[in-house]
Amino acid sequence: MQNYQHILLAVDFFEQSQLVIEKAKNLADKYQAILSIIHVVDNLPVTDTSYGATIPFDMDLTSILMENAKKRLNQLAKDLGIPEQNTHLELGSPKSEIIRIAEDINADLIVVGSHGRHGFALLLGSTANGVLHHATCDVLAVRLSDD
Ligand code: AMP
Repeated sequence: MQNYQHILLAVDFFEQSQLVIEKAKNLADKYQAILSIIHVVDNLPVTDTSYGATIPFDMDLTSILMENAKKRLNQLAKDLGIPEQNTHLELGSPKSEIIRIAEDINADLIVVGSHGRHGFALLLGSTANGVLHHATCDVLAVRLSDD
């Protein structure tokens, strides 16, 4: 079996994400693979028909979220020794952006947590499930439990 060469770690900075980070780091070390990381800031709704109006200041909120996310992601990259060109901060749908960046960088393995911010109601969280269904490379869902 060929070793993995480029691993993409999707991190949501939610509880237990450290377990996912450690698993991806260990795999990258074991396979001597490049490790890239991605965090996606969810798009805020600009309009919502149920509220009727455009939400003001959405751009400001988005840039504050992006700025905070950038600090956390850069710190994590520094801790893991990941260079800037392998550190991806994106805005949009987490599932779509994780898949898009994985294809862009030719990742051969995506590492996600089985669950994150979207809770434990499903067997697999919605982002993890979406990535698993649509990715063109292998996906490792690190089992996280709510107990
Ligand atoms: P979920 O399916 O949302 O419960 O999350 C499962 C996993 O998907 C998390 O443990 C992360 O690995 C990944 N993930 C979820 N949301 C994001 C995000 N905004 N940015 C990067 N990865 C994410």
